[in-house]
Amino acid sequence: MNDVFTELSLIYDRVTTHINKQNLICNMRGVCCDFYKTDHRLYATKLEIDYMLFCSSKPIGVAPKKCPWFLDGRCNARQGRVLGCRAYFCTNEGASSEIYELFYQEIKALHKKWHIEYLYVPVFKYLSEREQHDESYY
Ligand code: SF4
Repeated sequence: MNDVFTELSLIYDRVTTHINKQNLICNMRGVCCDFYKTDHRLYATKLEIDYMLFCSSKPIGVAPKKCPWFLDGRCNARQGRVLGCRAYFCTNEGASSEIYELFYQEIKALHKKWHIEYLYVPVFKYLSEREQHDESYY
């Protein structure tokens, strides 16, 4: 794993610790991952998406409103999933926003530190376009 991915994964570890201290529970109903049923949009930085691709199986059948790792009602990208996935709790959207803002700033700062182009994009639309235009990407 390269150094910037290591730093990102350490931020994610602290997200988990922060969430655990707040006793926020995810019952893994999978409802929030079904973007056809919800009106949610998942955004992330390019760095986060690169890390998710690095950690996960090759996404198949990417579409603008479909997470390719949402299979049989379960997330198949737990290790690399982006902050928006980690921070969201349908039982407490206020806490979700606070967690997101807190750690998003740290992730944004990584781009500056490592001189990485900063892109903040709708995840599945971006993946879908990338798949179409750059097959070597995966
Ligand atoms: S990566 Fe996992 S948590 Fe995030 S939308 Fe896809 S299935 Fe849900």
